[in-house]
Amino acid sequence: MEQYKIDHQAEETMIEAAFQEVLEGYLASNHRKKVEIITRAYKFAKEAHKGVRRQSGEPYILHPIAVAKIASQEIGLGSTSICAALLHDVVEDTDYTIEDLEQHFGKKIAQIVAGLTKISGGIFGDKASVQAENFRKLLLTMSEDIRVVLLKMADRLHNMRTLGSLAPNKQYKIAGETLYIYAPLAHRLGLFSIKSELEDLSFKYEHPVAYSRIRELIKESEAHRTEIYKKFSTPIHQKLKELGLKYEAKARMKTVYSIWNKMEKKQVPFEEIYDIYAMRIIFDCDDPDKEKLTCWNIYSIITDLYRLHPDRTRDWISVPKANGYQALHITVMGPDGNWIEVQIRSRRMDEIAEKGFAAHWKYKIGDGDEESELNVWLRTIKDILDNPEPSAIDFLDTLKLNLFASEIVVFTPKGELLTLPNNSTVLDVAFELHSQLGLHCIAGKVNHKLVPLSHKLKSGDQVEVLTSNTQQPKAEWVNFLATAKAKTRLRAALRKSQQPIITEGKKMFVEFLQKHNLVATNEVVTKILGILHLSNKEELYLALGANEVALDDNIVKQLSRQDSQSLLSKIFRRKPSKLVEVQEPIVIDTKETYILKHDDRGANFKIADCCCPIPGDEVLGFIDENNEVVVHALDCPRASVLKAGYGSSIVSTQWDISSGKFLATIQIEGLDRFGILQELIQMISTNLSIDIRKLNIEAHEEVFSCELVVLIEDSQVVTDLCNKVKKINGVKKVSRVY
Ligand code: MN
Repeated sequence: MEQYKIDHQAEETMIEAAFQEVLEGYLASNHRKKVEIITRAYKFAKEAHKGVRRQSGEPYILHPIAVAKIASQEIGLGSTSICAALLHDVVEDTDYTIEDLEQHFGKKIAQIVAGLTKISGGIFGDKASVQAENFRKLLLTMSEDIRVVLLKMADRLHNMRTLGSLAPNKQYKIAGETLYIYAPLAHRLGLFSIKSELEDLSFKYEHPVAYSRIRELIKESEAHRTEIYKKFSTPIHQKLKELGLKYEAKARMKTVYSIWNKMEKKQVPFEEIYDIYAMRIIFDCDDPDKEKLTCWNIYSIITDLYRLHPDRTRDWISVPKANGYQALHITVMGPDGNWIEVQIRSRRMDEIAEKGFAAHWKYKIGDGDEESELNVWLRTIKDILDNPEPSAIDFLDTLKLNLFASEIVVFTPKGELLTLPNNSTVLDVAFELHSQLGLHCIAGKVNHKLVPLSHKLKSGDQVEVLTSNTQQPKAEWVNFLATAKAKTRLRAALRKSQQPIITEGKKMFVEFLQKHNLVATNEVVTKILGILHLSNKEELYLALGANEVALDDNIVKQLSRQDSQSLLSKIFRRKPSKLVEVQEPIVIDTKETYILKHDDRGANFKIADCCCPIPGDEVLGFIDENNEVVVHALDCPRASVLKAGYGSSIVSTQWDISSGKFLATIQIEGLDRFGILQELIQMISTNLSIDIRKLNIEAHEEVFSCELVVLIEDSQVVTDLCNKVKKINGVKKVSRVY
């Protein structure tokens, strides 16, 4: 009893201190000082969550307090949002209603909490359609009051910061959807530092091994980096001081996630990433009219000292990014001969860059509803929401595409300015201007020169669209469209014209099923799609109706073969053991790590045929409708969809040390010369004593390609094998396919 009392006291003090930090931060900001209502919201929430604890064991109220602190200090929001943050879980987790909140705190705060409650339980449910619908709701609420989504961000950030106390399968789900949707959304809202932190935290849970390895490498190379930075920045400091400028300069590290991304994309080791840090100069400037001039003065000082990279100057002062970002970026050659980026911005620009638009608003109290870039973007989102795709996954992807894109700016012949995602084409511009222009576009003129409609545009291009009444929209156009709007419009038009073909295809499919006594279960459909290399039912109907594929006996054969296999495994699982009368079907506990034992293969788990991971690969499990664990590689694109969409069926998995042998496929390409194949085969089978299971060789004139299937124990063997094959004279490319 005494012990409990002491703990209770200490907790009270801790909660009170956490809240005081929120208040102090708020009082130090530019907002009006509405302390009374904030304190009232705090007391209300504390009472409502009384006695409840988070997964980590700490009192629940600490979570809303932390969310309020992020909203205030990291996003720059005011009292209304702070109150809503403090109250954000009250309606969902306690007996209080929205009406209660309205009575106590007024309409606005209640509305925001209502918006947050509607979209809780995760954007993603257990079905893709539910997930799309929830996401739609989130974006709709967002376009009504942007603070809803900003608070959702703060909520997610705090949950990510405290993710360590959850079970691994929940970590995967939350990290997965954070990377899939929250981080891009944060980027779009201009919440740059929140976006980076969300990415880094997700990465930490998704690829723990890679994460700690890169962290280690950063630490090891720190001393060297500091030395270079000092050498580089000292002369700049001198000159800036001579100018009499008040400023702050710091070395900005790339995040672990972005380093990893670059290593993966460019296939380079850590040592070859030179832009690991950038220098950032933030200067104080009372007169907004002088900001631009000061930026260019600093530019001039730095380029006098160091050689400027000719193509890497980015002027986001004259034309800010759509998310409001303003700064001048230049890249110069550092003392060690590597390029270093320098970011130049005023204190005001820095606030916008770090905290997003919300920070910007407090500088513009009074004029609220001006035509900001954010409003333009919100309208685009609404436009997509009004024309949703029939397939939920496509719809999500379309929206995501729109979130990720970085922009270019082009002009119409009338001088009208259009902001478009990178890689936009003439056809995107046509659709942007009007659907009918898009559907009948035949070509374009870029800077007065005739170009095809697939021509990719650059910032600053002047674009004219040419149309013809006889032109018909084509399915392959979707391959070079970059805007979500154009894709949606094109697909809608195509669907209209394809409807008869789809109906025909559907009829053919039903007849096929009846003829062979098959039922269209998820499993059967997925298998057929897999065999025909199609991605969804609609594609299947379309391909059937257009006679591009046929459902022949071959498919029936393949279907029954796979069926007999899974049938066998079921028989095996039910086989009575000698000790127990009848073996119970195994129930997999998603809270615990599932160990992949060789003997259980085919009985309790199977290897996904999309990515075919082998022991040594990072993997995760997905429990299918037969209660079997399907093992995917952690970086399998299909796995990331599953993670985001079916989080509750995810189980973390690990290879048993003696997992037995697995098949791996290796693709080898090279120039044919006499004797090369003998050399290859001999090297593999004799030198490495590897069991070759299949070997396919094709040669066309001088080039040969070879598919090799080997039986191995873990992924390290394949890596070694690839490295050795690479050294054979004439071999140009070796890679593990699956
Ligand atoms: Mn919450």
